Amino acid sequence: MDGIVKVKKVTKNYYNGSNYVQALKEVDLNIAESEFVSITGPSGSGKTTLLSIMGGLEKPTSGTVELFGKQIDSMSDRELSKLRLQEIGFIFQEHNLLPSLTIRENIELPMELAKTSTSMREKTIKELLDIVKLEHLADRLPSEISRGQRQRIAALRALANFPKIILGDEPTSDLDRENARILLEFLKKINELYRTTIIITSTDDTLHKEYTKRSVYILDGEIDATHL
Ligand code: ADP
Ligand code: MG
Repeated sequence: MDGIVKVKKVTKNYYNGSNYVQALKEVDLNIAESEFVSITGPSGSGKTTLLSIMGGLEKPTSGTVELFGKQIDSMSDRELSKLRLQEIGFIFQEHNLLPSLTIRENIELPMELAKTSTSMREKTIKELLDIVKLEHLADRLPSEISRGQRQRIAALRALANFPKIILGDEPTSDLDRENARILLEFLKKINELYRTTIIITSTDDTLHKEYTKRSVYILDGEIDATHL
């Protein structure tokens, strides 16, 4: 299996003012193209750190990370931001939609940054909103729609440049069970429709597993292959 994401012997230490915290300990993880993977583990186990390192938001203390065959831990910030903009979509626990922009404008923003043509932007926004059946909300502000709808729009925004990978850090943890299921169903559909590689984290051991193709368990900065 040739990995689209290859994490090799990655260690990450944080200094918290008085001592070092080892957030990741020689983690190895390979993710193949079009996989849908959940990373689960209790709070503080290293999920956000691992996801941030895979997405080039943080650098490992030691070890290497390859995305699409390119080693990213030695890339310049400029190269990395370009890679992130074009190839990676992020979904966070809090939706991070810009409050003063409409739903349409929020989805359009990453495409503007990527200098996509106006006609292509319009076509994509329509196509994406159609998937979640939320076209009727396009001209509303984030504050004018529900929490579950906001999280679905944030997921759509992550898709706007049709990235190869979507990284979601606890995208369902602020949602009730029903909305969490709707979001997971949507991600599953995206994974099948566009073959987008999707990696999401959760502290919930069971829910994500119902939707993803593979589940990885992390505890105290180490992947625990024995955990079922
Ligand atoms: P999770 O997402 O699973 O809750 P994190 O990756 O956020 O775990 O954190 C793993 C460990 O690293 C925790 O002990 C946390 O306190 C520590 N940590 C994370 N980020 C920082 C930081 N910026 N500075 C210091 N310690 C951190
Ligand atoms: Mg976290």
